[in-house]
Amino acid sequence: MPIDATQPYDDANIFAKILRGEIPAKTVYEDDHALAFHDINPQAPQHILVIPRGRYVSWDDFSAHASDAEIAGFVRAVGHVARAAGLVEPGYRLLANTGGDAHQEVPHLHVHIFAGQPLGPMLA
Ligand code: 5GP
Repeated sequence: MPIDATQPYDDANIFAKILRGEIPAKTVYEDDHALAFHDINPQAPQHILVIPRGRYVSWDDFSAHASDAEIAGFVRAVGHVARAAGLVEPGYRLLANTGGDAHQEVPHLHVHIFAGQPLGPMLA
């Protein structure tokens, strides 16, 4: 069910539970600002999710309210995860669904990293 990206943060969302260690995830990277783990239902041979540790519903919430340190730390973490996985060449795609039309389902900001095959044109 797509979410409203303007809703208040819900501490019961599934990624909040992963951050608190209440449910398992296949973690590939973590630091003070971010946690990265494999998507449970991969849409490409490599499908990694990167989430900030802070309580942000969406890209909109994060870009408006996170500190410069949180934003820099998160962006660097996304780049690090892709580099460490060897994805820079042949390439990867980043996606942050935001709100209902984009079909965001989990109300905690997450950036998808897709890779491992030719991904085709955007919005294919
Ligand atoms: P969205 O549509 O919100 O951008 O994407 C949510 C993503 O989270 C989906 O790709 C979905 O497969 C993934 N996902 C949902 N629940 C879980 C979970 O419990 N664990 C993991 N690892 N991924 C999940």
